[in-house]
Amino acid sequence: MVEFSRHVVNNCGLIHSSCSELLHPWTNNCVDAFLSMAQNCTIGSLKFYAPIYLLQILMRGKKLGKKEMMEQFKLYLKSGIFGLTVGSSFVTLNCIFRALFFNQFSYYTTVLLPCTVSGLAVYFEPPHRRVMVVNLFVNLVFEYWLRTLEMKGWLRRTAGKETLIFMLSSAVLFYLMRLERENNKRTPLFWFFTPPRVSQEQGEPVKGIMGRSPACPHKGPCINYVLKGTAQLFGVGCAMTMLRTIIPKILTPAKAFKSLRLSHLKLGVFFGGYIGIYRLVVCLLCRARGRDSALHALPAGLLAGAALRAAPSTPIALAPFTSSLQILGSWCYQRGMIPEQLPLVELLYCVCQGLLFHARVMHEDVCPRYIINLMHTVTSTKADQIQAAFVKKMLKYLN
Ligand SMILES: [Zn+2]
Ligand SMILES: [Zn+2]
Repeated sequence: MVEFSRHVVNNCGLIHSSCSELLHPWTNNCVDAFLSMAQNCTIGSLKFYAPIYLLQILMRGKKLGKKEMMEQFKLYLKSGIFGLTVGSSFVTLNCIFRALFFNQFSYYTTVLLPCTVSGLAVYFEPPHRRVMVVNLFVNLVFEYWLRTLEMKGWLRRTAGKETLIFMLSSAVLFYLMRLERENNKRTPLFWFFTPPRVSQEQGEPVKGIMGRSPACPHKGPCINYVLKGTAQLFGVGCAMTMLRTIIPKILTPAKAFKSLRLSHLKLGVFFGGYIGIYRLVVCLLCRARGRDSALHALPAGLLAGAALRAAPSTPIALAPFTSSLQILGSWCYQRGMIPEQLPLVELLYCVCQGLLFHARVMHEDVCPRYIINLMHTVTSTKADQIQAAFVKKMLKYLN
């Protein structure tokens, strides 16, 4: 178990060590340390962002023109610079802070402070991507807090509880998303699917299962609409699992296919079930009442959320809650409840990054997996080397 409390860190002999002892054991020179971190992080962050941009291009489904390709490439480079700056500044900010302000390391100034400051690099990303990155990081902070509470024995995460949270917050999120459709300054949201506008058409209630109600927010028969969505998302879920299972074993395709099991359909069942149940309930309500309403999203989202039971996951269970907060936050901005000149998104990012990277070093057991992988890839394993050296020294001190 790797868990360092404030008391332990601040009262061990390590705080008097030099920056080269604690942070760049591979060289005594702070400038050399910066250069080697920058080199590692350039390769690392380009590697980290490549699949993300590829996936985004693939999910558009259509061919990109030359101009759009260039545009995507520029965005990719900007994201790369963002990752590179955050990754390479950690060691160097520590060297600088130590030389200028503090003459020793402490629980708060070693990771939390420099990583909060280096979060300012988020300005390299264009504004709409900043919003998405903040959404992701806030969600990870919620996961970190939940894991901390669990470790302290105050609550227990179970698949059932997570599904319940997901159901309730999916209901709220879909309702807010349907209201948000009428807004012309929509906040960029990355969700499995975007519910259609509330249809203005009205008509008589429809019986049976054939055809569609005039109020339905889609074209064609309801059955086609429900089944098409279910099949598509089922396919996406299965494809994602296949890629994750097969790619690491691509050199031995026979073994890779043999390793596929029925349990690999779980993600597909969740994706397909989520959209299928949502569409089914909305259609049933439109058919029964003869008109559409944003409120239909509440029961539809609630029941659809039950699909998470097929593939329980803490970060996904919390995601609709975080996205609902994001929509409410953007409404506050638009109504002038938050002053426009306040860079809330950027500040929030800095705080979240500080907290999460602090958790990576001091409380590894409750740190979300995503952050561990992110730091591992972006710094080309340099983060793990620093961490391992730090842990070894701490344990030596503790014994
Ligand atoms: Zn140094
Ligand atoms: Zn319908």
